[in-house]
Amino acid sequence: MEVVLASANPHKAAEIHAILAAAVPGLVVHPRPADVPDVEEDAPDLVGNARLKAVALVEATGLPAVADDTGLEVDALGGAPGVISARWAGEGATYADNVAKLLAELARRDGAARAARFRTVALCRFPDGRELAAEGACTGTVPLEPAGAGGFGYDPVFVPDEGDGRTFAQMSAEEKHDVSHRGRAFRALGERLAGFCRE
Ligand code: IMP
Repeated sequence: MEVVLASANPHKAAEIHAILAAAVPGLVVHPRPADVPDVEEDAPDLVGNARLKAVALVEATGLPAVADDTGLEVDALGGAPGVISARWAGEGATYADNVAKLLAELARRDGAARAARFRTVALCRFPDGRELAAEGACTGTVPLEPAGAGGFGYDPVFVPDEGDGRTFAQMSAEEKHDVSHRGRAFRALGERLAGFCRE
């Protein structure tokens, strides 16, 4: 079976490729073709945005397409930044802008008020309109200061509960995949895809 990835983000594409290839033996994973235009992610929820991205890639390539959408949710901020995590600090915001905004919003909070969770919806859309989808979550805490140079996005300001106190940005990719929202969502999607291939 062949699939094409909808993500143009090289960090995410590398993570997804590694996780899916391990979960579904023999799966051929194509990168997103460079000439496919960006998709406006204006759905109200993660599954809607994942679907928009997957449908665009099915239409462009004729192949089954795999997409995901992720949000960081902070209870003390009413679930923000959530579905707008990428552009929370404004249109064109950099990872550093979003991290700075998160630390500023939580500046006077400590303990449980710094609890957060990443949530990912992973979705495979087939040319005939069928879909497989799975969700993964990872709970953690936002530290007072960023730490680490690995990963991307909010990784320097997220310490997973199932870890040893390091941020995602201080972990190897494999350590992150083991407990991460994206690892969980794509391992679950991989199992469903493997079942689908056996049918
Ligand atoms: P996307 O819409 O799924 O690409 O993700 C939205 C935003 O969430 C990204 O621009 C990143 O800032 C952030 N994000 C997504 N996944 C991760 C992750 O695994 N670690 C840290 N930040 C992430």
